[in-house]
Amino acid sequence: MPGTLFIVTAPSGAGKTTLVRGLLERDAKVQLSISYTTRVPRPGEQNGCEYNFVDVDTFRVLRDRGEFLEWAEVHGNYYATSRVWLKEQIALGRDTLLEIDWQGAQQVRKAFPDAVGVFILPPSFEELESRLRGRGTDSDEVISRRLLGARGEMRHVGEFDYVIINNELHDAIDDLVAVVRAARLRYDNQQARHPSYFDFLEQD
Ligand code: 5GP
Repeated sequence: MPGTLFIVTAPSGAGKTTLVRGLLERDAKVQLSISYTTRVPRPGEQNGCEYNFVDVDTFRVLRDRGEFLEWAEVHGNYYATSRVWLKEQIALGRDTLLEIDWQGAQQVRKAFPDAVGVFILPPSFEELESRLRGRGTDSDEVISRRLLGARGEMRHVGEFDYVIINNELHDAIDDLVAVVRAARLRYDNQQARHPSYFDFLEQD
């Protein structure tokens, strides 16, 4: 049976990366898709781990060759998801999670209408600002630009199936684990997992 595709979207500073890491620790059956980006690696980030880091020219070549399922410009950098890799993984039955922005989410939904969309909201807008400043990895200019964009991003929350408000990290991880478990219990998935049981129930 095909794997389930999860799309997790949030404005930066909502705690998405920590939350997703918490999910991956709790659920070994979910794997993360590694995106391509033209952004400069942050301290500690390694090529092939958090992202495939490429220059703008390479990105454009890959994009123009149709290698990307979706791509978007976010905060002045390009980001994209590999088309072939993702299709293969879903066909192989691997539950796969994309950490992408709302523009990418819209494009992925067209190719995978059954994808499960999850939007992560920070506890409040004020809290988002202090989290972004506290992270200390980005310049003031970058933070101001991200805050400006954050409200606009958060307005897309209605396009997603589930909304998690990241008040308390442990609760939010529980919520994300619950969404993944619930998605695996959807009728189509259970039918594909237990074909003879469902066949039997349909017999007269
Ligand atoms: P960051 O640079 O902080 O890691 O990510 C910035 C934004 O880019 C986040 O909103 C993140 O979800 C988004 N992003 C990361 N990878 C992708 C991708 O492959 N496609 C799209 N559309 N957005 C991405």
